[in-house]
Amino acid sequence: EPALYIVATPIGNLGDISRRAVEVLSQVSCIAAEDTRRTGQLLSGEGIKTRMLAYHEHSAPQVAEQLAARVAAGESVALVSDAGTPTISDPGYRLVRVMQDEGLKVIPLPGPCAAVVGLSGSGLPSDRFAFEGFLPNRGEARRRRLEALASSDATLIFYEAPHRILATLEDLQAVMGGSREAALARELTKSFETIRRASLSELCEWVRDDANQARGEIVLLLAPAPDQGVAEVDSALGELLRGMAEHM
Ligand code: SAM
Repeated sequence: EPALYIVATPIGNLGDISRRAVEVLSQVSCIAAEDTRRTGQLLSGEGIKTRMLAYHEHSAPQVAEQLAARVAAGESVALVSDAGTPTISDPGYRLVRVMQDEGLKVIPLPGPCAAVVGLSGSGLPSDRFAFEGFLPNRGEARRRRLEALASSDATLIFYEAPHRILATLEDLQAVMGGSREAALARELTKSFETIRRASLSELCEWVRDDANQARGEIVLLLAPAPDQGVAEVDSALGELLRGMAEHM
């Protein structure tokens, strides 16, 4: 059946491409790629000869329409991004909507996603989490976003650029407090993979002292805000104990 396949590709270790991804990428009539040069390398490594066309953030809406027209005409096409899962901090969700709105089939393939890989190795609570993508770079928007997130009761997942990681850790520490637990997951699936869970103040110190910790690709995870309920019970208990002590 003709469809748009959303195909996740490796985030570092090429061994993470799935058998199904290889099969689909070999069989579709064309691959819409964020960066045809980069995807070209992946394809040639797998011996895949399917032709590519560019689909990226700045693609005109007509490109999505052209891809939809192909599927409507009976062809299958695949969407891939530079790395990981398309649509996750990557282009693609508009294309999915165009297909759906035209009654065309969309088939997403599971595969690598840095956010989920980082979460699974972080040791932070994973029963509830929120993907925050990239924080606003600076200024008022950044401050407002951080404040809005300060009391989140889910683990938060951020993507961050290496040259901004220290500033981001410091801003998080300023807003959430140095004792809030966090995890830095760097170069996932690659040779210098590093995952460290510690307090924000310890992570700040670590990155400040070792510039290597601010290199490569980074997922930053933040533990939920300490339970208000527990804090309240704690202070109520404290009051009770103080009261008892006064009467002894
Ligand atoms: N669609 C991708 C995915 O599914 O993970 C994410 C694309 S986003 C433009 C790129 C960001 O993802 C990087 O700046 C980094 O924060 C994170 N990232 C990608 N690969 C990574 C890796 N191997 N280790 C850690 N973070 C990674």
